[in-house]
Amino acid sequence: MYATRTINKNTRIIDYAGEKISVRESEKRERRYMKRGRVWCFTLTQRTVVDAAVGGNIARFINHACRPNCYIEIKDGVIWIRAARRIRAGEEITYHYNTGGDAQMVCRCRPGCQSFL
Ligand SMILES: [Zn+2]
Repeated sequence: MYATRTINKNTRIIDYAGEKISVRESEKRERRYMKRGRVWCFTLTQRTVVDAAVGGNIARFINHACRPNCYIEIKDGVIWIRAARRIRAGEEITYHYNTGGDAQMVCRCRPGCQSFL
């Protein structure tokens, strides 16, 4: 996802929409989703996950970066993607997924990145 205009620091760009499900249900779905290579499950709390495959918006297409230009704010059960700095038109919007390498996917945020998602 790319910025179409300048976004000021700390702007709430979009909320990560989707169906709220239990961690157990999410684990089941993620196994299924991994087979097609797309997982849009965002951990909201220790018990709750937001699955953007159901009722999600374009926030699910925002890529991870190890040095992102956005950060996550969770407020009243809503996941907000906020600008960590001033973002110029044409820049890709990114945030850090903080998955701790659970998915064992090599990060491709930049050439030579050694991280796992
Ligand atoms: Zn990376």
